[in-house]
Order: sequence, then structure tokens, then C-alpha cells
Amino acid sequence: MSVSAVSLAGGGAAPQKATQLYDRPSADHDAKRQEARALLQRAAAEGGVTQASSLGAEDVVITHLINALGLDIPVFVLETGMLHHETLALLERTQAASRAPVKVYRPQQEAVIQFIRTHGQDAMYRSIELRKACCSIRKMEPLGRALAGQRGWITGLRREQSQARANVGLVDTSEVATKGLTKYNPLANWTWGDVWHYIATEGVDYNPLHDRFYPSIGCAPCTRAIALGEDFRAGRWWWEAEDAKECGLHVKSQPDQTRNGGQRAAPSPAAASNTGAQA
Ligand code: SF4
Repeated sequence: MSVSAVSLAGGGAAPQKATQLYDRPSADHDAKRQEARALLQRAAAEGGVTQASSLGAEDVVITHLINALGLDIPVFVLETGMLHHETLALLERTQAASRAPVKVYRPQQEAVIQFIRTHGQDAMYRSIELRKACCSIRKMEPLGRALAGQRGWITGLRREQSQARANVGLVDTSEVATKGLTKYNPLANWTWGDVWHYIATEGVDYNPLHDRFYPSIGCAPCTRAIALGEDFRAGRWWWEAEDAKECGLHVKSQPDQTRNGGQRAAPSPAAASNTGAQA
């Protein structure tokens, strides 16, 4: 999805809130809300499910729906140790306000220390392998603990987010055989405008980085603001080719098939800070 149209809506005037910029509901927005509610109710009834929240716009909508419906679905957040302070502040507010329990999973400290000692703080910029190794330590291992014993998980994946997600279904059972996990994607059909219409009309608390053109928010070193006309996920791992841009959380096992191994010119840490990212 290009955000050029909505970004241009801001014109040259004073900075606008994301709720002002992006609130553009689809014609069938109410039906999509009902579909999402019904799916969450079904997931809760089937039991053994948890919401994986990155505290991004989609995930705050889902947590709000879970709380509004009074569903017995706990929420978990992967606190990688590299999140923006705005995200950490939102995590604190969410834990304080949520009826559903919000559990935080952090990486194993020894593994993080060992990785930094061996490869340095900025290893993720040097190769896809090192970037994925960092994601493995900071995200995948904690994710495994968060999902242990669960039958299913709820995510904020939307078809519109990227080509890799264009075929996301409301319910994904493709990993039941291998991992024993059903994935529920209640916002699969939602547009970015639908997400922000919900946030605006329900008064949902959100990450203020969204007001600064961060549509997709991950770890600080690996996330930057996007420019006019750039794609939705252009600010994530922006030095890598498009089809390499997943951290593993939502990747099914398939080999990388990317130009130059998926690697573009690596940024310097200074370039990262110039684009709004902080180590
Ligand atoms: S997104 Fe970046 S900082 Fe976060 S775990 Fe992956 S490589 Fe490490």
C-alpha cells in the first residue's frame, strides 16, 4: 500500500494526527468490524489462544476489541530490548488499562550479550543472516515461550500490508500439522483506513510514532519513518530487498529468493539515526 494519497492529505500545514490523516473507512467497514468480533469470539470459545501484540495500530485495535467484548484472551508483547521509548510507554499504559492480562516476554540476556560481544550492536545492518540471528534471539526465542502450550494465536496481519501478506486468511490452519497452532487474523480484510477509523471512533490509545509517519513499528534500529509515496513497510529493514522483510514471526518455511541474497547497500548507524531510528 502506498500512503502517498493520505500523506499528501496533510499538505504543508501543521503536523496532523494519524487519526486525522488515515481515518478512511471502507464502505463495508461495519461488516468488517462484525466479522472481526465474530472471529475473536470464536477463537475465545475454542480456547487456548493468545494475542501477539506489537502495539502497532492493528494490534491496539484487536486488544481493544478483546477488552470491549470481555473475552478470555490474554495478550503478549515481545519486548526485544530495542523498542522505541514511545512503544515502551504505550506498553505501560496498555498494561495499566487492559482488562485482559498483558504479559511481556524478553530475550535471554546471556544470548543477547554473547551476540553483541561477537557481532557488535549494529550487526543487523551487515547481512541478512546477522539480522535474522538478532531477530531469532530477540523475537523468535521469546515467541516460542509465549506460544508454548497454546492452541492458537491472534495477529494483526492484513492483506494490504505487503505482497507477502496478500493471501492472508481470517483463519490460517497451515501450521497446525507442524506447530499445532491455528492463526487468527481478524483484520485480514481491513484497510489502513479501516484500522484508523476504528482507532479514531473508539478513542483507542496508540503509538505517537504513527503521527510521525511510522506506519509499521518494530525495533528502533530497524524502523524508520517513511516518505511520501513509499510503501507501507518501506520503513522496516529498509536496506533489505522487499521479499526479505520478515523477522520470522509470520514466515512459513521457504527459502529466500531475493536479489543479491536480499541485501541492499547497508546503512551506517549514522544513517539510521538520520532517518529517525535510534540504536
Ligand atoms: S528487528 Fe532489528 S533490532 Fe529487532 S530483533 Fe530484528 S534485527 Fe534485532
